[in-house]
Amino acid sequence: MPFSLDTSVEYIKGVGPAKAEALKTELGIFTIGDFISHYPHRHEDRSKIFKVRELNQIGEINIQLIGKIIPEGLTGVGRGQRFVAEFSDDSGSIELIWFQGAQWIEKYLKLNEKYLVFGKVNNFKGKLSIPHPELEVIGADFSLSNLGLTPVYPMTEGLKRKRIDNRFMAQTTKKIVEDPQFFIPENLPEKIITKYKFPSRSIAVKTLHSPKNPQELEKVKNRLKFEELFYLQYRHLQLKSHRNRNYKGLIFETIGDLFNNFYNHHLPFELTGAQKRVIREIRHDMKTGLQMNRLLQGDVGSGKTMVALLSTLIALDNGFQACIMAPTEILANQHFESISESLKDLPIKVKLLTGSTKKKVRNQILEDLKSNKISILIGTHALIEQDVEFQNIGLVVIDEQHRFGVAQRAKLWKKGNLLPHVLVMTATPIPRTLAMTLYGDLDVSVIDELPKGRKPIKTVHQHETNRPLVMDFLKKEIEIGRQVYYVFPLIEDSPKLELKSLMSGYDMVAEYLSPPQYKYSLVHGRLKGEEKDSEMTKFKNHRTDIMIATTVIEVGVNVPNASVMIIENAERFGLSQLHQLRGRVGRGAEQSYCILITGSKLSEAAKKRIITMVRSTDGFEIAKVDLELRGPGEIDGTKQSGILDLKLADIRQDESILIAARTEAQDWIDFDELLMKAESIPIKNELSKNPHRTIWSKIS
Ligand code: ADP
Ligand code: MG
Repeated sequence: MPFSLDTSVEYIKGVGPAKAEALKTELGIFTIGDFISHYPHRHEDRSKIFKVRELNQIGEINIQLIGKIIPEGLTGVGRGQRFVAEFSDDSGSIELIWFQGAQWIEKYLKLNEKYLVFGKVNNFKGKLSIPHPELEVIGADFSLSNLGLTPVYPMTEGLKRKRIDNRFMAQTTKKIVEDPQFFIPENLPEKIITKYKFPSRSIAVKTLHSPKNPQELEKVKNRLKFEELFYLQYRHLQLKSHRNRNYKGLIFETIGDLFNNFYNHHLPFELTGAQKRVIREIRHDMKTGLQMNRLLQGDVGSGKTMVALLSTLIALDNGFQACIMAPTEILANQHFESISESLKDLPIKVKLLTGSTKKKVRNQILEDLKSNKISILIGTHALIEQDVEFQNIGLVVIDEQHRFGVAQRAKLWKKGNLLPHVLVMTATPIPRTLAMTLYGDLDVSVIDELPKGRKPIKTVHQHETNRPLVMDFLKKEIEIGRQVYYVFPLIEDSPKLELKSLMSGYDMVAEYLSPPQYKYSLVHGRLKGEEKDSEMTKFKNHRTDIMIATTVIEVGVNVPNASVMIIENAERFGLSQLHQLRGRVGRGAEQSYCILITGSKLSEAAKKRIITMVRSTDGFEIAKVDLELRGPGEIDGTKQSGILDLKLADIRQDESILIAARTEAQDWIDFDELLMKAESIPIKNELSKNPHRTIWSKIS
């Protein structure tokens, strides 16, 4: 085999055209270089052989046994298609079970051979078994010392059909990396390698595929994780730096009359320390001459709207317009009302533009926008339609960022001749590591303090059987003048079913609370914008006591008199969703409550979510648990981004590597941004080799 990383996999001994085709279509592996870049996602320690008698003590982990199949222990083929073979070593016996391919297994098992069995022990009420074990005949060339750390590769069913299994992958990569000519060029600069005492890339890759011991493996893994994160961060920071170099931002030097007047005479409350700090950060950004691209993270109720408002006033003071975009009509309305109210004594024209704005009104708005008669435009997606033109847009605020895609941000950006500053606000706190990874090209501000005097929401968990108790409590709260949210789960992909379940939920609540002395609002995804708004408005003005809804009320809705949030089937909600929902209450001076109702059988993950909600009201802590439970790829809005398809690094565990990688990437950009120096050649080569990953927050 002529060794070159560019050689097609077809030429590897034992691969051939059919397997090569499968590797291409299933894993995108074309060349030897691709083949060795298909990293094992974990390694199994196969140096230990257990005894059957030891298995009672261990949990569900992979283990190995050596022994024989007992001839009289074969049972089960036939209609059940289940095959059981009793397997024993000198310490006892255990059942091996197959649920598929039973016929085939029966023919294949040899009764007088010694087998090495590998698999996970299943303990069902004290009865031990190993479902679908891997079996290997212990032949003459078998040696325990060949076992050791075995790489486990990501696999697909399609590969297995072409008889490409883990053993094949392991043996083939081993063949490649042990070729005397095997060599992979370095992709990190010498300086970084020396600083961190990293092994070379060649050695690292080779070792990853066939490590001798866990220590050695750990060391090379760190290098490869670093490399992965370094390039991820490098691309973010390069994008940021590119933007800064090529595009000038508007310079807002003046803090003028509007801001000062409002700040000194019209602020409805004293700002929290965190709000003040964030305003300072934003003010600073706006006068540097660079475009602001800032992500503002703040838990529900932390007061982001006021920060947005103050920021728009800075734009206005400098002769520019501003817009605020929200993901739903309800929210856009709410922003419009609260901002109009705050600004009512000031000469500032604020308008609302949504999908349901009447044509005539809309036309007038468009005209006034062009002639700068409107200073602040608030709205939904309607703001980014083609014909919405500002005279001079200076600031774009986007609320609840994760609901907007990249393309939408891109459109907004083109609204003016000069680049407006962009402030993105999100109430879905994400851990720092995730923020760095997803929004690595944005600057991040955090409001980590709630306004004074808020009473922490009390959260309890109740089983369905206790619903009468919950209802009694609910009555009492309404009797003393409070309002209640009652939330049912969204039924995805079936608006019809959702409506049905919501209606039966409504009937149930109404029946519990009969005679019907209370008034209800009903909000769900099938209502039109206006209908939804009118239901919301009734609740807001306390013309109704109970808001029965699906998760459409999730984001941002502000009704300070509402003090109880009841969530049915809480086990079906994600953590961040539960936290968002809970954030609808606790906005006034009264003690608020969140009641999570579930069935009695809960999965482990659901239990953990409920316990976390009961224990904590801190959005960042909850986000951390959420990340642990679901993994980074599942967090809202990250799935499409592809950015978290990391091969080795796991941002849940590799925070310190991530931070080091980001620091080094920034240092390198500061040192040689254009990659003109000889030391930068490895970086230059690597960047030219790999196509850009999709960068989630990239603005086209
Ligand atoms: P969010 O960050 O979730 O968007 P809001 O901006 O809607 O939060 O603020 C929640 C509530 O807290 C609003 O009623 C707002 O008027 C009030 N609020 C905001 N900042 C303060 C503050 N510094 N002191 C007291 N109340 C505040
Ligand atoms: Mg908000």
